Amino acid sequence: MPEGDTVHRSAKAMHRALAGRTLKRTDFRVPQLATTDLAGSSITEVVARGKHMLTRTDDGWTIHTHFKMEGSWHLYRTGERWQGPDWQVRVVLETDPFIAVGFQLAIVDLIRTNDEEDSLGHLGPDILGPDWDLNEAIRRITSDPGREIGDALFDQRNVAGIGNLYLNETLYLRGIHPRTLVSDTPELEDVLLLAKRLMAANVGLAIQTTTGNRRLSDKHWVFERPGHYCRRCGTPVEVSRQGEFRRLIYWCPGCQPAE
Ligand SMILES: [Zn+2]
Repeated sequence: MPEGDTVHRSAKAMHRALAGRTLKRTDFRVPQLATTDLAGSSITEVVARGKHMLTRTDDGWTIHTHFKMEGSWHLYRTGERWQGPDWQVRVVLETDPFIAVGFQLAIVDLIRTNDEEDSLGHLGPDILGPDWDLNEAIRRITSDPGREIGDALFDQRNVAGIGNLYLNETLYLRGIHPRTLVSDTPELEDVLLLAKRLMAANVGLAIQTTTGNRRLSDKHWVFERPGHYCRRCGTPVEVSRQGEFRRLIYWCPGCQPAE
């Protein structure tokens, strides 16, 4: 699943290529927008909010997209061959000279820019966003002290943008078992700051690493390493499922003892 930093990186690239340019052609290949045509509008900015991408136009529209598991935006120059099957295309935004093509996007909505808050207001503060508010994130997380911390940190209503990779790695680095209750989690502020730092360090990088090592087998501490030895204590990394989404959690029983 794309992490928040992936969406931010993609939004930055889209903004650089498209902001200030006029749409020559749009093609929305989702039923509810099949007849929508934004040709003639200009793109003013592209921003990420949590894992959502917002592409705003000068006439007050926001194209709201979400990557979920498989989605991505590609940028091409006019005439360049697209790197993906045509049947996966959900949106085409054509300017001169750049064309943005959204593949396999889980959500494609058109909303009034003024109504963005109504559509996205349920999201907690975006950990990489300009509106990041540490105290508000802590307030939301601690409002349910009996919840498991891994689950609480993944809930986008508490904090927008922390993906499962950074969640697992942060808890490992702070020695916190993902099933620790929120009320028993030490130094929540420090946990959030570390998650933000790990994510910010990866914005702009094609390979997401939390160890500083880019090699495929060495780029994470516990994430997607079940059964492998902990790099610090040699205990095999464990895996289990957590929360309403049955998300996979990884931890080292040696470094992250259960309460
Ligand atoms: Zn360990």
